[in-house]
Amino acid sequence: MIKYTITQFNKDFPDDDTCLEWLKNYLYPNGIFCKQCGVVTKHHKVKSRQAYACDRCGKHVYPMTETIFEKSTTPLKLWFYAIFLIASTRYGISAKQIQRETGVTYKTAWRMAHEIRSLLQEDCNPMTGEVEIDETYIGSRKPGKRGRGAEGKTTVFGIAQRKGNITASITPDIKSATLYPVIKKYVLPDSMIYTDEFQAYNSLKRHGYNHKRVHHASKVFVQGNAHTNTIEGFWSVLKRGLDGVYHSVSQKHLQGYINEYSFRYNHRGDEKPMFKTVLEKV
Ligand SMILES: [Zn+2]
Repeated sequence: MIKYTITQFNKDFPDDDTCLEWLKNYLYPNGIFCKQCGVVTKHHKVKSRQAYACDRCGKHVYPMTETIFEKSTTPLKLWFYAIFLIASTRYGISAKQIQRETGVTYKTAWRMAHEIRSLLQEDCNPMTGEVEIDETYIGSRKPGKRGRGAEGKTTVFGIAQRKGNITASITPDIKSATLYPVIKKYVLPDSMIYTDEFQAYNSLKRHGYNHKRVHHASKVFVQGNAHTNTIEGFWSVLKRGLDGVYHSVSQKHLQGYINEYSFRYNHRGDEKPMFKTVLEKV
């Protein structure tokens, strides 16, 4: 991936007007259609407002409407900078860090991070070839048991194509009836699926998949091609980030964080800087 540096960022987006100009050009690549004039007309920036006005009739257009910036009083440059920060980190960045870097209040920083994170949800294409499947448990212990060593933690189910994409989501349970629809949605038949010895995966072959497993219980982690290192690597980045950066994450927001890490993982090999990819989703 091409590294998009802070120097480059400050050169591209020196102030609020530049950010608004970028947004306008991105949203209206063929010029702004003036509803009042009924045609695409020339527009000019309205002084000290986040708006452009039609050269002919003066009608205002607000590029921030219907973006995550709508109704925000935070300067656009700070929004762009927060996106830059979130897109540039590997393990995530806390609202506290955004507060420090941008100078906005903690509440604003938290809301910005939350809005930006909401852009990072993506559905990935069906996977094929060599695919790894695994579940993991996240969060502090709560009362009650929920199977497979969970002790009330939140269960996250993940599917990763080797050298490809990953998808991970909170799952209410790890019964076959719950997991197989997810597997079928994301993995094409005839793919080779690698799992550990968990019994819910017993019927993968009956569902039209090739299946190899590693016996973690007997301390075998890699046997030829049979391993689940890809998905486990992802779990470790996710957990390290959640522990180190976000400390405790409520179940309500956990999927948003998982989406953030999945997004970063899935775009790790992009030519385009991640900052630009996120920016184009606002
Ligand atoms: Zn007009």
